Amino acid sequence: MTWDDVAMQCIRYRTAISARTQNAPLPEGLNEQDLDTHLTACPECRRWSNRLRTLRETTDDLLRRRRSSPPPTPPRPVPYHAPHPRRPPPPRTRRTPLPPG
Ligand SMILES: [Zn+2]
Repeated sequence: MTWDDVAMQCIRYRTAISARTQNAPLPEGLNEQDLDTHLTACPECRRWSNRLRTLRETTDDLLRRRRSSPPPTPPRPVPYHAPHPRRPPPPRTRRTPLPPG
């Protein structure tokens, strides 16, 4: 088996993984069992699948939160790395504690 064969296979499986994440039907010729077998054997696709699922869950969570929030807010671009809402406390001035007594 050449590297190209592996890559081609993975592309096919990743299409299936993507479909499954969206509860869409799997591509022709692939079933859940094939997919699971490949995920067991291919760490690359397993990692890819995990990332996709995390991404999907995050998106769902955001959509849910947006839907449940009472006032409809207009969509605005959100930076990928959103800054922390709260600033960390200022660093304490370094002092050597006195020994008790
Ligand atoms: Zn693979």
